[in-house]
Amino acid sequence: MRSLQSDVEQRGTRIFELVDKHPERLFSKAGFYQRLMALSMHDERFKTQLFRFVAVLPSLRRSSEIIQHLEEYFSDGNDVFSPLVGTGVRVARLVPWISAPVLRWNVSEMARQFIAGRNPHEVIATLRKRRAQKIGFTVDVLGEAVVSEAEADEYAALYGDLLEKLARETRDWTDPLGKNAELFPVVNLSVKISALYSQLSPAAPADAIAHLSTKLRPLLRRARELGAFINFDMESYALKNTTLELFKTILTEPEFKDWPHAGIVIQAYLRDSEGDLRDLIEWGRARGTPFAVRLVKGAYWDYETTKSGQNGSNPPVFLQKPESDANFEKLTRVLFENNSVVTPAFGSHNVRSIAHAQAVADELGIDPSRFEFQLLYGMAGPIKRALVEMGYRVREYCPIGELLPGMAYLVRRLLENTSNEGFLRAKFAENVPAKELLRDPKELIKPAVAGIGDSRGHSRSNQKNGASLHTTAGDSFRNAPLVSFIYKDSQDKMQSALREARKRFGEKHPLYIGGEKIWTDNLTPSVNPAEPTEIVGYGTEAGVDEAERAVKAARAAFEKWRWTPFEERAQLLERAADILGRRRYELSAVEVFEVGKPWSEADGDIREAIDFCTFYAQQMRRLGRPKLTQQVPGEESYHHYWPRGVAFVIAPWNFPVAILCGMAAAGVVTGNAVIMKPSEQSIICGAMLMQVFEEAGVPPGVLNFLSGHGSVIGAHLVDHKDVDLIAFTGSREVGLKIWESAGITRPGQRELKRVICEMGGKNAMIVDADADLDETIMYSIYSAFGFQGQKCSALSRLILLEENYDRVMERLIPAAASLRIGNPEQPGIMVGPVIDEPAYRRILEYIEIGKKEATLAYQAKEVPPHGYFIPPTIFTDVKPNMRIAREEIFGPVLSVLKVRDLDEALEVANGTDYALTGGFFSRSPDNIERIKARLEAGNVYINRSCTGAIVGRHPFGGFKMSGSGTKAGGEDYLLQFLVPRVVTENTSRHGFAPEQSPEYRDEFLWPKPRQ
Ligand SMILES: Cc1cc2nc3c(=O)[nH]c(=O)nc-3n(C[C@H](O)[C@H](O)[C@H](O)COP(=O)(O)OP(=O)(O)OC[C@H]3O[C@@H](n4cnc5c(N)ncnc54)[C@H](O)[C@@H]3O)c2cc1C
Repeated sequence: MRSLQSDVEQRGTRIFELVDKHPERLFSKAGFYQRLMALSMHDERFKTQLFRFVAVLPSLRRSSEIIQHLEEYFSDGNDVFSPLVGTGVRVARLVPWISAPVLRWNVSEMARQFIAGRNPHEVIATLRKRRAQKIGFTVDVLGEAVVSEAEADEYAALYGDLLEKLARETRDWTDPLGKNAELFPVVNLSVKISALYSQLSPAAPADAIAHLSTKLRPLLRRARELGAFINFDMESYALKNTTLELFKTILTEPEFKDWPHAGIVIQAYLRDSEGDLRDLIEWGRARGTPFAVRLVKGAYWDYETTKSGQNGSNPPVFLQKPESDANFEKLTRVLFENNSVVTPAFGSHNVRSIAHAQAVADELGIDPSRFEFQLLYGMAGPIKRALVEMGYRVREYCPIGELLPGMAYLVRRLLENTSNEGFLRAKFAENVPAKELLRDPKELIKPAVAGIGDSRGHSRSNQKNGASLHTTAGDSFRNAPLVSFIYKDSQDKMQSALREARKRFGEKHPLYIGGEKIWTDNLTPSVNPAEPTEIVGYGTEAGVDEAERAVKAARAAFEKWRWTPFEERAQLLERAADILGRRRYELSAVEVFEVGKPWSEADGDIREAIDFCTFYAQQMRRLGRPKLTQQVPGEESYHHYWPRGVAFVIAPWNFPVAILCGMAAAGVVTGNAVIMKPSEQSIICGAMLMQVFEEAGVPPGVLNFLSGHGSVIGAHLVDHKDVDLIAFTGSREVGLKIWESAGITRPGQRELKRVICEMGGKNAMIVDADADLDETIMYSIYSAFGFQGQKCSALSRLILLEENYDRVMERLIPAAASLRIGNPEQPGIMVGPVIDEPAYRRILEYIEIGKKEATLAYQAKEVPPHGYFIPPTIFTDVKPNMRIAREEIFGPVLSVLKVRDLDEALEVANGTDYALTGGFFSRSPDNIERIKARLEAGNVYINRSCTGAIVGRHPFGGFKMSGSGTKAGGEDYLLQFLVPRVVTENTSRHGFAPEQSPEYRDEFLWPKPRQ
């Protein structure tokens, strides 16, 4: 009996022979495309520039714009290797009116290679040709990730229309194999869920399923009537579980339970895929009607690995290509072994994967008419032909649509064709021998891959703690990963934490002074802004007496704490980080109730608190060791730091754990004694943070917790002679008062007070004429309305170039109108309540001002009846001098300003008192450089949201009236809490001096701690 491997090899060789019989280059259209791809394969930088250029081109309207972009992308002198492009740019400069259209035509042609038609009419012509070659079709409508429900409705209508037209045009088509035809309807439509619902949140599968089912039921019903097949395509990992759940839910409904013509995709590059497939098969068996699975490797490998790299989470995909290949083969067998329940389709261009499927089918005695091979339009034509010739079923995946919405698809295909790892490149561009291409992938898997870096050739060696003195702060530590609400387990944990938090509603929390829990007669209730009748808990109110007591306790503790080795102080923070990690869901749940944060925002806050602790611990280890100032013979001068004394920390409610924790942790780790005061609106979060530090073992008096009125204890402590440092984050009004008051030297005061002051912003995003509108809308909406616009970094001024104005507005308003507003206790809510009644009233007043000053372009109509809900609001015709364009509103209100050009945009953006965050959407390299250099903001964000700073990666804080220029989560931050000191010793004795002094030495501690 032949082994499976030799059967695979024989079949593979046969396919190659057939392929070579009809020599056609991999890329069927000669010329321009082939040369570009060849260049891309040999130069990574060129490839990046090319793909970026291709992505922006369809949105450019004028010839001059096209030429300008061409120059910006390619004429920086580095492309000497590329005479094609160099000449192209030179010619284009001379004759833009000819070159631009030619270029656009060429790129359109390149796209058309992968797009089967712009409309149903065009696509049907293509399908007819394929029919003559015995190749079937599945049609997909290009464009994914809709930003509004209006757009989602359009897609649903397009799918419906396409179905009708395909059914009509193919009425008399018959099955190419004439056998088992009932399993493979002629009309086959592939749908993507992200095109059908704009508010998909992985945390809220039930909401997604409810909305998507409403859109899909009519389509499935009609498909059934017409005898057509519907396939659910698989997209990014974040949507995977929802897609699977949706598929199972809707196809278990009585109406569809006995309908066999629906299918779904399994991506073999996912570690979850085997579990998912087995689960589907079990479901299918219970359902009692066959269904189909298209097995693919997966088209989002680069996206998934980049995304998880950014989030600090484990990639969901395999990291070695042969692992994906081997898993594909394993799942191939699973599919065939369950052929009575599931009809398999294999979506691959890899001859080894295809030959393997053929061999396993043969081994298990499965007739070739009972499964099919699916390949993409415009790719691997010779392989399709070979398979038809061998008597297999072949179906082509045919995207339909215009170039602009098809850009994401086109870039995926270009990536695939030029990927170092790809089969097509190996076979057709690099002529790797057949024997090599047909090897068993299991043999090619290397023993262990440590991280993503390894598979992509990046070194991670610089990412270990303290790896090198030159390693940047952010690179030498790892952020805690975000909780992924993709998983049911995380969703369940959050639901259960919310239930538990509810049970503890009304709990009372003490002050914490000098290691003792202190109660006073006054308790302050903290209410749920989504349901103000609910009291989340009570905080004990401190008065001046307690404030005095806290200063004394802190002063006394300081004298010992300052001499505690920094290593011990750093370890305290690391223990706190561990406890925060352990209590993560519990703390997030309290935030949801106390300040109205949506789930993922609350989790982000706890993650940030953890990061502050670990980052500052690491930074203290760096700063704590005295550092030699200069190598000179006979003298040692060491620069080092002392703590300042008693630090008073005043935090806001909008990041109720993270900001309080960050400021307090910085104070404590640097050897100061800290009094922390949470905001009056988030006492419970503050009290819980105190519990965390208590459990971590903070010595008595080193960290004290005082809740109470800012006007009473806050003012008292700011002016106190024994308070040496004030770390404040909050409003400009209070911040400026503190700044002023701290400047007065009181009798008995020993130090000049240091004030760390982080205040508000009036943050602007500028949208360039060539901006990617999908991204612009998605990120602008999130930046403006996420957490109800109550982040100091939130977007409040959207500055649009007049050229782009109408196009942006026509998508921005429907996108705002699609937002999910509600009680953030529910998953997937984007807009919850504002913090309290005064905030509610103040924001409504601003809306009234806006109505008088500008034009109310949009305001949500429906908000929950209880609670402090403000409808998301957008004003247009806003001028820079209007109050709504100058004053911080701190709520879900967005002002849109129209400008002539980028000069004016910059002038408007920079024309406020603030400089906190700012953003720019553009695909012009020159304009991006200009904004990077000139936008007045402490944090400038390009082509992304302007909120969501990450510790160590985006040190956060502004200047002008936004703050005193310190950067939380950055490597300079701890310096604010320290005084520098230099100790110099003459080390020579009678002219004899040691050769060298060590670059570092231990701390100056006395008495020295025992070893
Ligand atoms: C008809 C059809 C329908 C499709 N539908 C979908 C769909 O719904 N959803 C979807 O995601 N994709 C879909 N795809 C795309 C498909 O996933 C890619 O075309 C496919 O991954 C390329 O695989 P291959 O076997 O042709 O080529 P190969 O060259 O053998 O494999 C390339 C693939 O290997 C994987 N890979 C690359 N590098 C690594 C690495 N370092 N570690 C681990 N794995 C790696 C990636 O998945 C990559 O795409 C479809 C493809 C076809 C043909």
